[in-house]
Amino acid sequence: MKTAVYPGSFDPVTNGHIDVIKRALKIFDKVVVAIGDNPGKEPTFTTEERLEMLKESTKDSKNIEIDFFSGLLLDYVKSKNSKIIIRGLRAVSDFDFEFQRALMNRVVDDQIETIFIMTKEHYVYLNSSIVKEMAMFGSKLNGLVPGIVEKKLEEKFTNKT
Ligand code: ADP
Repeated sequence: MKTAVYPGSFDPVTNGHIDVIKRALKIFDKVVVAIGDNPGKEPTFTTEERLEMLKESTKDSKNIEIDFFSGLLLDYVKSKNSKIIIRGLRAVSDFDFEFQRALMNRVVDDQIETIFIMTKEHYVYLNSSIVKEMAMFGSKLNGLVPGIVEKKLEEKFTNKT
């Protein structure tokens, strides 16, 4: 059974992430979506909130596990009996960062491969930050995030303004 791990902040999950998950499921038997915290960034949503949004948004797909991890990603991937890390690529701007990370991971453990899934054209400019900014100013997010995320964003930002 080939398991791949898709790590990210998912703060919150967008339809760009969901598209990557669905396409990864066509290649691998199982995808573990692993919520991790970016040490340089304070998340908007708690781990529990991000977990709930991901679970609800993927509830119709089989062979997905939603989890969170802390510590070294490579150790986590091994703990899931996997050798594959999935990452998404949008524009060239993602490339430098992803290239550096993938190479560094390979230096540390050359048994683990990073596989990149190219974004769907529709989601090239979609990321979690832009979605939060739009929600903060009351914009509709039709087609950009799952329904539960739209609701949670509304709750989060309506209470604050
Ligand atoms: P991180 O903070 O680890 O980059 P993100 O949640 O922002 O976490 O992203 C997780 C992964 O999903 C990254 O590889 C990112 O490039 C990818 N990703 C994010 N948005 C999209 C999108 N719209 N299309 C394709 N891949 C995406």
